[in-house]
Amino acid sequence: MNPGDDQDRSAVHYKHTTLSGWGHFPALDCDLYRPEKVSELAEIVTGNSSSVIARGSGRAYGDAAVNGGNRVACLTRLSRMLAFDAESGILRCEAGVTLGEIIEVFMRRGFFPAVVPGTRFVTVGGAIAADIHGKSHHRDSSFGAHVKSFTLMLASGEIRRCTREENSDLFWATLGGMGLTGVIMEAEIVLRRVESAWLQGETVVASNIDEAIEAFERFDPIYDNSVAWIDCLSKGSALGRSALDVGSFAAPDGLPSSKRQQPFRISHPRRPTVPFNFPAFTLSGPMVRTFNSAIYINYRRSAGHKLFDYESFFFPLDSIGNWNRIYGRRGFVQYQCVWPLAESRAGLIETLEAITNTGRGSFLAVLKKFGQQQGMLSFPIPGYTLALDFPVADGLMEFLERLDAMVLSRGGRVYLAKDARMRAETFAAMYPKLAEWQQVKVSADPSNRFSSSLARRIGLSPQ
Ligand SMILES: Cc1cc2nc3c(=O)[nH]c(=O)nc-3n(C[C@H](O)[C@H](O)[C@H](O)COP(=O)(O)OP(=O)(O)OC[C@H]3O[C@@H](n4cnc5c(N)ncnc54)[C@H](O)[C@@H]3O)c2cc1C
Repeated sequence: MNPGDDQDRSAVHYKHTTLSGWGHFPALDCDLYRPEKVSELAEIVTGNSSSVIARGSGRAYGDAAVNGGNRVACLTRLSRMLAFDAESGILRCEAGVTLGEIIEVFMRRGFFPAVVPGTRFVTVGGAIAADIHGKSHHRDSSFGAHVKSFTLMLASGEIRRCTREENSDLFWATLGGMGLTGVIMEAEIVLRRVESAWLQGETVVASNIDEAIEAFERFDPIYDNSVAWIDCLSKGSALGRSALDVGSFAAPDGLPSSKRQQPFRISHPRRPTVPFNFPAFTLSGPMVRTFNSAIYINYRRSAGHKLFDYESFFFPLDSIGNWNRIYGRRGFVQYQCVWPLAESRAGLIETLEAITNTGRGSFLAVLKKFGQQQGMLSFPIPGYTLALDFPVADGLMEFLERLDAMVLSRGGRVYLAKDARMRAETFAAMYPKLAEWQQVKVSADPSNRFSSSLARRIGLSPQ
């Protein structure tokens, strides 16, 4: 069978193709199905002995929605919105609906997803499976905190409704369970009320990591959302210099009169697209250093009180199509870790110093603060989280293993939705509720029908 061949196995059509996550690393051959009906999905799940993993929009960076040598069921054609209750804000929809589609329909009615990640292109299924976090985690916790229920197709084809009361073990194991307990088919999620498409807030410049932490601590009690961009190549007394954007959805009377009449209207500029994979030299150290300095200077100029439209506040990278191509053909790895609050400052300094010492700059370095969190494999713990993009290059994996050891020694952990390379032993040491999760997995999926390249690599399912 050759890559690209269309085949028919049983009744359901599939394509043998090379799949990867958003980081384009690793890229592996899989059989990709795109079911349009629940009956087709049931046939994919039960009708073949090889393993299968659900896939949404493929926005996980590494191999979570990739299943090398096996099957992948992409849910994006099961994407109907089924019911909405404007009293409670509860939306029932199929798992393939994206958060962007929800915003498109509900923003003008005064509703917005309670938690959004840095891109609107993720599906509801992917948001539940990774139990994603946003810029308001310190207030709102993760996506799962706003999920009332979901239905899950098990390995047997049986469909179970899961809530905090009904099949609660399966509920908690599926939030953050990376698709390994079954296929999420429908969900009831609670949308938040908003009065405009604008956020009132501020940009605050911090000249080093201590000022950045101090700014988070000062502004988090005031604003619902906060995120900082860090210049990760700054050194010495400027180590960790950053710009923090904070904001809360604005009420119409807080808007300028020109926007008050139509508070949900924002303009959508044309979206440029990166047309091809950039050559490797584009990401040289001096280039990253120049880029980081230019951003910092720009932030300094524009610091102060601001009105942000929701797209540029929550989804700045969505304004450039296929931006992942700037990292070239070899792709890139996003490394996102979190430290417990008491270890966060020391962990941040240690990590930023390790980066500046090797000169491995990251175009994108984002700092956020997490609050309370439930769930067995959900990533957040109360503390600071840092996300860094590194182009795949010689020595990168060894460097990231050094970072893993540093993070682990401080009681921190690495995010599975971003991971493409962590070792099984490291993962097991970072996630203390793994044994509890494995018990639920064994009873829901005794033959490990649901597996992925990520799951085999980190020991969540057998090789
Ligand atoms: C630019 C960018 C910014 C991001 N910012 C953030 C952020 O701020 N916070 C954050 O938490 N994450 C962030 N992410 C990661 C992203 O939110 C998660 O990886 C999310 O899971 C992607 O959803 P998806 O629909 O693309 O799922 P995929 O990437 O296709 O799959 C991700 C996981 O979900 C599982 N899955 C998908 N659909 C189903 C289903 N129906 N049933 C069962 N399992 C399913 C897959 O098996 C896989 O394990 C970002 C990603 C990008 C590209």
